[in-house]
Amino acid sequence: MSERSTLDLAGVGAGPFNLSIAALADSRLPQLATRFFERRQALSWHPGLMLPDTHLQTGFLKDLVTAVAPDSRHSFLNYLVSHRRFYRFLNAELGSVSRAEFSDYLRWVGERLESVALGQGVREIELDAHGFRLRTDSGDYRARHLCLGTGKAPWMPEFATALRGPHCLHAAEIAHARRDFSGLRVVVVGGGQSGADVFLNALRGHWGQPRSLDWISRRRNFEPLDETAFTNEYFTPGYTSAFHGLSRAVREREVAAQKLASDGITPAALQTLYRELYHRFDVLGEPRWARLLPHRSAVALKRQGTGLSLTTEHGLGGERERFDADVVIFATGFSSQLPACLAPLAERLPRDTHGELVLGPHFEVAWDGPAAHRLYAVNAGRHSHGIAEPQLSLMAWRSATILNHVAGREVFDLADSDGPVAWHPLAAHSDVVEQRWAQAI
Ligand SMILES: Cc1cc2nc3c(=O)[nH]c(=O)nc-3n(C[C@H](O)[C@H](O)[C@H](O)COP(=O)(O)OP(=O)(O)OC[C@H]3O[C@@H](n4cnc5c(N)ncnc54)[C@H](O)[C@@H]3O)c2cc1C
Repeated sequence: MSERSTLDLAGVGAGPFNLSIAALADSRLPQLATRFFERRQALSWHPGLMLPDTHLQTGFLKDLVTAVAPDSRHSFLNYLVSHRRFYRFLNAELGSVSRAEFSDYLRWVGERLESVALGQGVREIELDAHGFRLRTDSGDYRARHLCLGTGKAPWMPEFATALRGPHCLHAAEIAHARRDFSGLRVVVVGGGQSGADVFLNALRGHWGQPRSLDWISRRRNFEPLDETAFTNEYFTPGYTSAFHGLSRAVREREVAAQKLASDGITPAALQTLYRELYHRFDVLGEPRWARLLPHRSAVALKRQGTGLSLTTEHGLGGERERFDADVVIFATGFSSQLPACLAPLAERLPRDTHGELVLGPHFEVAWDGPAAHRLYAVNAGRHSHGIAEPQLSLMAWRSATILNHVAGREVFDLADSDGPVAWHPLAAHSDVVEQRWAQAI
């Protein structure tokens, strides 16, 4: 092993979440020795789903740094100014930034950070008497602390995995190859944002003109992301910190109830889609070769001659339907997986009932290891910190929380004012509340 000096913090992966930590460390903690290992040769944000007319679900001010370090050189606004398009960006009055522009912003930040090491996958992580030892594509490194930011893996129902290939694929890989759906029967499974993005592009002939196009969703309807003000209170530091203190059963229940606050389709995308359908099938009078089929769960897939046959079960009466297809695209989301490089430490990492790592309030992973060496994880806390955790909204705040913890002092001031909503019972504070009232009247 070529000995190098010990890093204070090593990041595994440089997707937006670890990149945010790298950018904030560069802005406020330059003395911290950090290195973020990214296996891709160039930073790109979910390139397999980089389709035309796809947009961020999150406002651009919730970038890598602004929420906690608005003067950082790594802000989206600085990206716009540096690219000399600040005024045109404003004049365009974009409802939301395109994924392509956001991905380019991430690339720009990554390229300016010396701590981001591209083309350097982490193969294995071990612990010895001196701390973590990382075996990477460019040699071995030592680190006091680690931050795991390897993202999630595309998830498909088990019945489909054996047939996986060019005709049975996950949406996350659709843009990885040239595809021609001309004259084919295409079925999209999954009623979230990725399903909508794939369906809209297939409808517009992005991969050629299909013979038929069916969009199957288990949900009751093609349901909108709830972007209203009080729902957006879930995406605040105060709500997220308090959420972590709830019991596991309550957290589970709340996360399930808040599904559409993070997993719906943006109202803008739904409107675009509806207008496209109206124009083609109602105004232009094309025969209805595209169908929307909600309330159906895909339950089986088998090969049928040269094609595929998908079986669904209806959510109202349990009726089974069969859809013959040449191509089936599963927009069925992502799941957490412990990256292979952590296998040597797997025994030391307890999991929750979802098989996920157990996170403390500072996103530190519970583990059976020396307290002097901590493992942090990002994009791993939907059940511990709530629905905001896998989203971009709070990434700068989470990064600052982690960096404060690593530094052992308050480098970032994370105090926030009270919001308008009292989420928790007032009983514990009722004396105080009553006193205030008494003084007020
Ligand atoms: C298509 C899509 C659109 C989304 N849009 C939004 C949105 O608009 N708003 C929102 O709030 N959320 C959105 N999300 C959710 C979330 O914000 C993103 O998934 C985000 O990319 C998560 O960031 P990450 O850094 O955890 O993971 P990723 O972006 O997946 O990055 C992980 C990185 O780790 C690298 N890596 C993996 N293993 C290793 C290894 N062993 N060694 C080195 N590198 C490794 C990978 O190459 C990758 O670059 C979206 C998700 C998807 C899939």
